Amino acid sequence: MQEKVAHSNSGVEVGIKCSCGSKDCVELVATGSGLNKSARILSSSHKTQLYIPQDENIKVDTKEIFFLYQQNDELCVRLANNAITAIVNLIMNLIRVSDPDMVILGGSIISDGFLYSKILDRLNKTATRFVTNVIVLNQLDPNIAGLLGAAAVASEEYSVYKRTELKSSNAQ
Ligand SMILES: [Zn+2]
Repeated sequence: MQEKVAHSNSGVEVGIKCSCGSKDCVELVATGSGLNKSARILSSSHKTQLYIPQDENIKVDTKEIFFLYQQNDELCVRLANNAITAIVNLIMNLIRVSDPDMVILGGSIISDGFLYSKILDRLNKTATRFVTNVIVLNQLDPNIAGLLGAAAVASEEYSVYKRTELKSSNAQ
């Protein structure tokens, strides 16, 4: 499931060819390595202060992208907005296809909360009134949570448990 959703179309046009044969998969615009690839491609057409290492084995720092987004850096605004759009589109598609009780977002680029609040803002403006209350941030260590997380069809008990857990961890 996770593999499949990572390769669904992001609805964002960057023009990156994916190893799966498609273009602009969610994985290519909304993961750490995707932001790295996108940054390298889009830096030729967008002004930026972002440090993009010459050595392609060294990835751009996603925390720096989010920091510069807040300084209105042209490239970083585009990159972050692409990631937000891709994840929102993915959630909308999952809702249409599987009508989940809960969507869990996780992974390294979501876990610092920067994108999460913006994703919720965008979803609140779209038609997700059935699920917005149960789109939760995965509390797992992002290093073991993998890509951008999983869409889970959870039992009511589990979603109540998770919401309680989220509230208590936010209260700390
Ligand atoms: Zn792909």
